Amino acid sequence: MITRIDHLGIAVRSIEAALPYYEKALGLKCAHREEVPSQQVKTAFFDVGEVHLELLEPTSPESPVAKFIEKNGEGIHHIAFATTDINGQLGQAKGAGTRLIHEQPFEGAAGKLVAFLHPKSTFGVLTEFCAPKA
Ligand code: ZN
Repeated sequence: MITRIDHLGIAVRSIEAALPYYEKALGLKCAHREEVPSQQVKTAFFDVGEVHLELLEPTSPESPVAKFIEKNGEGIHHIAFATTDINGQLGQAKGAGTRLIHEQPFEGAAGKLVAFLHPKSTFGVLTEFCAPKA
């Protein structure tokens, strides 16, 4: 079951360049920074109430986020739903005809299990499910 929006992923060329906007212009505090080698990105998280913002900076031109920026420019990259059962959620989406990018969840940032649905079958929104690691 989806319980809430966990975070919005925002693609940036440089976290260093984007930080002053989030910290000074918006007054948010960076809660957590982490490199995620599996996705070839550096991340920075901001808490906005229950929801987080996840800045994503590619660490390689091969990174999916680098390809996204090349195609679309910087901006909102994905929406992530927290779910109580990530495998069940993937099965439900697949059963409803949605194309999955990942059939199996993998470890994303902040020690969570994550998996993505393909934007071609989600009306243009790259969609992530995330769940705490059991
Ligand atoms: Zn995410």
